[in-house]
Amino acid sequence: MDRYNELVELINKANYEYYVLDNPETLTDQEYDNYIREIYVIEDEHPEWVRDDSPTKKIGGEILDKFEKVTHKIPMMSLADVFNEDEIREFDARIKKEGINPEYVCELKIDGLSVSLRYEDGKLVTGATRGDGVVGEDITHNVKTIKQVPLKLSSDISIEVRGEIYMSKATLERLNKERELNGEPLLKNCRNAAAGSVRQLDSSVAAKRGLEVWIYHLPDPEDYGIDTHLDSLKFMEDLGFRVNPNNRKVKNIDEVLDFIEEMGEKRESLPYDIDGVVIKVDNLDDHEKLGNTIRYPKWACAYKFPAQVVQTKLKDIKFTVGRTGQVTPNAILEPVMVMGSLISKATLHNEEYCLTKDIRIGDTVRIIKAGDVIPRVESVVMENRNDTQPRFVMPDTCPMCGSTLIKKDSNYYCVNDNCDKKDIESLIHFASRDTMNIEGLGDAIIEDFYNLGYLKTIPDIYKLYNYTEDLKLLEGFGNKSINNLLDSIEASKANSLEKLLFAIGIRHIGKKTAKIIAKHYKNIDSLINTDEETLTNIRDVGDIIAKSVIEYFNNSKNIEMINELKKLGLNMEYLGEEERTDTFFSGKTFVLTGTLPTMSRDEAKAIIESLGGNVSGSVSKKTDVVIAGEATGSKYTKAIELGITIWDEEKFKEMIG
Ligand code: NAD
Repeated sequence: MDRYNELVELINKANYEYYVLDNPETLTDQEYDNYIREIYVIEDEHPEWVRDDSPTKKIGGEILDKFEKVTHKIPMMSLADVFNEDEIREFDARIKKEGINPEYVCELKIDGLSVSLRYEDGKLVTGATRGDGVVGEDITHNVKTIKQVPLKLSSDISIEVRGEIYMSKATLERLNKERELNGEPLLKNCRNAAAGSVRQLDSSVAAKRGLEVWIYHLPDPEDYGIDTHLDSLKFMEDLGFRVNPNNRKVKNIDEVLDFIEEMGEKRESLPYDIDGVVIKVDNLDDHEKLGNTIRYPKWACAYKFPAQVVQTKLKDIKFTVGRTGQVTPNAILEPVMVMGSLISKATLHNEEYCLTKDIRIGDTVRIIKAGDVIPRVESVVMENRNDTQPRFVMPDTCPMCGSTLIKKDSNYYCVNDNCDKKDIESLIHFASRDTMNIEGLGDAIIEDFYNLGYLKTIPDIYKLYNYTEDLKLLEGFGNKSINNLLDSIEASKANSLEKLLFAIGIRHIGKKTAKIIAKHYKNIDSLINTDEETLTNIRDVGDIIAKSVIEYFNNSKNIEMINELKKLGLNMEYLGEEERTDTFFSGKTFVLTGTLPTMSRDEAKAIIESLGGNVSGSVSKKTDVVIAGEATGSKYTKAIELGITIWDEEKFKEMIG
């Protein structure tokens, strides 16, 4: 009984944080799902213990008074969770027990928050949250700021539809970059960011947050003469609603499992977060037959992907110096598997992050890895702490050169221009794929060349030919590789200005900003001669970026370097949009399967697309090449069956040159 009471209180607290504050602090979703299951089991065994405030008796959280209330004509329900193949088959068996032989529609389970949209005579009248399932919050003012919510439909009908409001991964990343620069707290994940944005009184906040929507449910299909769920999706799409294209009608539960496997593989490359797959009986008469429980319909369930949050021990905190001199704390972890990769390091962002979360060496920590984002320490498992661990302390000197660190905004910087680590990092950044793209000049080689004295500064890269004879004496360097390296260095001289601007490491200038600035100024001299005000007037260039650019070009050492690069023959002009030349990849279709040893799916996809290829989620006769990593699934088998060319990562790297 104590355990039961403890769990009910824990889950009620978590519900409040999740649904009311949009900021779950106490539990991860996986812990939440485990505990709520335990409550169900206890309540099943001891119905006499069931409390009125049990989370199993209600949907969602409290409704905030600050909003007008909207009563849902038909309750907005949650979904029953299933976590593995056995549970999916049990769901299927329960349906068959009712004399139904179901076909299913599988859809992505979008990780956002559900919304009800009501239209009268084809015009949007109300947007509401799910609330407690019966009464929701009126968020019409915010819903109207979402571009994909049609204000007017293609027909003058009155209708309610439901779907999911979400924030894309790219939007979250962009907002967090801006927030980091402005010293604001970071948004935790796409779901909480979307929920927090929608439940604001001021619609200008939601408008700036770039929210999006997918529509997936028609509560009154019989009013429109629709018999199947799939037809209801088509019907809503025809009315002008945005319906996610990744849905599939399947004939049986085995095909449901195939869909889940495929989407599991596709998950990382999707531009938005999904936390599972929703399985729905297609025939709408069967929905009637099956009915609902208090919390969910019996004709659907949500398969939840295994958690991406794992616990491990924080063995140590190591400080590294980046190319801009920023000193960052990094977690050194007891290695642990997350989403198929073995993680032994994770970011700890900065001093404030470590202090706010009270992260200490020796703690058991929760690690989260979302898509291709670098894994980060999410929180500390406080119960496991023995309080002998000292609090986190940021060093006051550079871990590489020992010079005193300077605090700017909430970060610490080594400002010693001669700090070795900074030099090496800036050379690595300069040569990397996204910047000057110098093939053959990888991290380890740069470090070796630096230690051998061949490369100390960026212009030294363009004088490397002076060391041709010395290079021949190094292990792994033959005439061919030296010539390739020198050719690649030579070719990089012709890069357009935006590449150079990103490459030289101006603080706060990423790939996108470099392009905006290059496009505006056309050549480096105009940029050098500009002023802060002109820069700030450019769209997407804020005060912080403008200051940083001016500061960079006010430093005479940087101007000397630019002049030297000019003399060495580097292009300093913006060359316009890149034209895609024909490559082996042009127009061909590639499928990625399994985990690639050294690159993420997103990286591989970006490379293929930059070379003119397409990446598809499933293998068919039209597939040209399957790129297979470790732990491949059905796609690999299908590729063999169809006789499709299969590459491993090594071959892929060879082909991209
Ligand atoms: P749910 O997220 O498990 O599933 C139901 C919801 O899925 C629907 O309401 C809808 O919004 C959404 N959905 C997305 N795509 C859909 C589609 N294609 N078709 C139909 N619905 C779709 O249920 P819930 O009640 O919204 O939330 C419960 C879950 O939230 C828990 O299982 C847990 O993971 C998480 N949670 C976590 C905490 C915490 O403290 N960490 C607290 C509360 C809830």
